[in-house]
Amino acid sequence: MYNKDVKILAIVLVLIAIGYIIYRKMKNIQDNKICDFLSYSEFDTGATPEEIRNPNIETYYSKERKRYNVAGTGKANMQKHFLEMLCEARKIADVSFVIVSGYRSVEHNRDEGGVENSAHTKGLACDISTPKGKNQEIIVKALREVGFVRFGIYKNFIHVDCDTAKPQYVYWGTAKHRMNPFKLVA
Ligand SMILES: [Zn+2]
Repeated sequence: MYNKDVKILAIVLVLIAIGYIIYRKMKNIQDNKICDFLSYSEFDTGATPEEIRNPNIETYYSKERKRYNVAGTGKANMQKHFLEMLCEARKIADVSFVIVSGYRSVEHNRDEGGVENSAHTKGLACDISTPKGKNQEIIVKALREVGFVRFGIYKNFIHVDCDTAKPQYVYWGTAKHRMNPFKLVA
């Protein structure tokens, strides 16, 4: 009889532990969610070698980006109105839409060769991967539809931001010949 009770107790404890792990996982997913189409962690800044070594800073390896990121920096630093626009755009575009760069700390921005005062350091920009230009027109069209007016169009990615301190209705980049975002039919 005693043995049976211990067994039941053990099973109950294991079930509670499993339930707790599932609860934590679901809560993390929920806390990370911006909308049905985007997560905050997609905008985390890249980690510098010092940050990766620092035991007080939580970093993790991103397979999609092939680099280490600093956990929580996207959520803490990205501007809400930018993320809301991007949620809408991703919903409209409905194609693979990997964000390779979102928030950048000033140090990380320098490492990436970004311009001083970059919209990335203000939480107002992101770069969307478009290998070999694939789906660029679909994505830019969706970004235009939700009101973005600043685009960098490169061979393998699109930069978009909503920094009103910079010139509006502009586009630039090494592959800008592919399209004029302001002439795409909505
Ligand atoms: Zn960019």
